[in-house]
Amino acid sequence: MIKKNKVVSIAYCLKNTKGEELDQAGADKPLEYLHGCGNIVPGLENALDGLKVGNKKDVTVKPEDGYGEILTDLKMEVERQAFPADQKIAPGMQFMGELKDGKKHPFNVVEVKEDKVRVDGNHPLAGQTLQFSVEIIKIRDATSEELKHGHAHGEGGHHH
Ligand code: ZN
Repeated sequence: MIKKNKVVSIAYCLKNTKGEELDQAGADKPLEYLHGCGNIVPGLENALDGLKVGNKKDVTVKPEDGYGEILTDLKMEVERQAFPADQKIAPGMQFMGELKDGKKHPFNVVEVKEDKVRVDGNHPLAGQTLQFSVEIIKIRDATSEELKHGHAHGEGGHHH
């Protein structure tokens, strides 16, 4: 049964409210995560609690339980000069920026103007209601290393 500190493999399909597919993982290449450690969005993690292998569930996740609401503070224009002159900048590129409180945060380039660059630090799925269809493929105990790291070390899925 799925509970805290179990490593869970799920096959899933993620759609938005218009029914467009945003992401998916098949049963042959499931997503493996450490349950109860915030590896996946809280709305999905909570909904999977207590499920067993073979169970299927449709889960609707509101923005506040998913990737958050869109924060206008994270949409901003920065001077082109803030980037190295020889660095190519194009929409879709991601870079690490700094928030007002000094925390590092990933930003995406939205538009490049002559001397300004428009960037957005919101997650691409922020503000969206997410519709997951999930099937539980496998549940196992976490290793002590996984518990120490706070994430699953699957075959090929381990990266830091
Ligand atoms: Zn690790």
